[in-house]
Parts: sequence; structure tokens; C-alpha cells
Amino acid sequence: MPDPHERSIASALKSVQQLKKLTDRMRGTNSAIHRAYRTVLRALKGNTDNPAIVTDALITLEDSIRAAAATYYDDALAVGMAQAQRDLAIYGLGQPDNIDPNSANLAIASTISLLHSQNEQALSIARLDLGEEYIIGDASRRGIIQPAPILSEMSFWLTSLSVLSYEQGTKRKMPEVVRQAVAQIDQHTTRTCLNVHGQIVGEDEDFHLTGTPKYADDMHDPPFHRGCRTSIAKILPKYLDDEVTAGMREDAIEQGKKPKPSTMVGRAHYRVVGKRVQKFWAGRWHRYKTYDTNLAARYAAAKLNK
Ligand SMILES: [Zn+2]
Repeated sequence: MPDPHERSIASALKSVQQLKKLTDRMRGTNSAIHRAYRTVLRALKGNTDNPAIVTDALITLEDSIRAAAATYYDDALAVGMAQAQRDLAIYGLGQPDNIDPNSANLAIASTISLLHSQNEQALSIARLDLGEEYIIGDASRRGIIQPAPILSEMSFWLTSLSVLSYEQGTKRKMPEVVRQAVAQIDQHTTRTCLNVHGQIVGEDEDFHLTGTPKYADDMHDPPFHRGCRTSIAKILPKYLDDEVTAGMREDAIEQGKKPKPSTMVGRAHYRVVGKRVQKFWAGRWHRYKTYDTNLAARYAAAKLNK
């Protein structure tokens, strides 16, 4: 049986993986969000000069997004609650406390206010009859009514609510703990999260973030940036095993040395293959630049990855 510290880290990673699944499900083309947007776009097509139809369609959209957000946010709270339950079991501390039911409501309110600003924009354009393309876009560009901003907002809340529910679920039964940042370490891990992986802070202290991307330099909880896959684990100080933390740091440092296999720069997609950089266009990878040494290729990759 691994020690309690190691089990807490594994438990945090399990949450990260469950959140990833939840986020993928939400972003999938058949999710409730995408379906709601397809429905509203169909209703708007050919009708954006009719404010009454636009208003109706946007109300339907709001109802669907509100219902979908409520379901996804409940699932996110359950992810954090399950982690609280696993961790309290590791230390034999009983059952987690319930989360404040208002948390999900606040997240839904935030999501809907973003949707409102999108809808207000569309409605003003409809009232002025400026043209359908602004609202629903065309074959190559999206208009104002599109799911991307809402999905990004909702991804933020999925991570935030799961961490919040873990924090609240364990707060009373684990009063004297430290908190450790646990990142999913792979080729997609950001510099920020490679740097913070394994960092230990007190219950009321902030994590100190270095590197990019990040929302702020000192933050109490993840997400630390958009699309962040870092969670936290609460550890009782007597089980804090330095070797586990040292191992986490080693993983992060090793991963940090590897060039990322592919990356976006502006709108173009690049990857490093051995000593070459390739660029993706017209449906396949093309030779972009050749470097004399592997070191130079790594340097190029580091620059691309900035
Ligand atoms: Zn991150």
C-alpha cells in the first residue's frame, strides 16, 4: 500500500482525469451546448431582420444553456466531492461535508451574464438590421452567436467548482493541513503548471506562479489559466513525504526539457521532428526549417512554444 501522501496525489490526479472527460464531453460536437447553438442558428437563418423571432430564439438558447450548465456544474461538484471522500478515507476522517448549494447558482449566473452580453449584441444588430452575417456568420467565419466563449467560460467553472467542492468537503475534517499543487504532467502541461507541480502551501496561503500562461502571480486555487489541468491535494503534515514531492518535481523538470511535439503559433500549426521544424498546411505537414544540431531544433521548439 503506497503511503497516504502518494495516495492523495493519485486521488487529485483522478479528479483531473474525470474533469478532462467532463470537459471533453461538454465540448464535444454533440453536447447540449453545441446542440443548443445549432438550434438557435437554424432559427435565426433568414430571420435576423425580425427582432421578435430573434428574441424568441435567444430565450430558447438561454433556457438550454442554463439547463446544460446546471447539469455540468453538478457533475463538476461531484468530482470534487468524490475526491474529498477518497482523501478523508485515506486518513480515516469520515465523510465529507456538503457543499454550499449556492456555489453552482453563482457559476450559472456568471455564465448566463456572459450569454446575455452575446445576446444583447445580436439583438441590437437585428434591430438595426445590419445584416445576418454579423449574427450567425457564414461558411468561413462565426458570428456573434457562437458557442466558443460560453464553452471557455464553462470550462473555467468546471475546474473551479470541482476544486471548491473538494476544499469545502474537507475543510472541517482536515483543519490542520498543507495543500499541494498536482498537475497532469504530459506534453501539453503549461510552463506555469510544470513550475508549480509539487508546490506546498498552507491552508490560507496562495500558490506562487511563475512562467506562462497564468491569470495572476499568486492564486489560492486552480484553474491557474485557461484550460488548466492542475488540482490540489490536502495532506496532513505528518505524512508529508519529501521523496514524493522530490519525485513530482523531477517529473515536471524532465517533462520541461522535452520539446513539445506540436504547437500553434498565431493561426499556423508547427511541430518539431528530430532536427526539423514542420508546418501544417493544405492538409499535411511540410518541411519548414532544418537545423544543424538537435540543440538548435530544441531551441527552435522552445521559441515556438513560447
Ligand atoms: Zn495548468
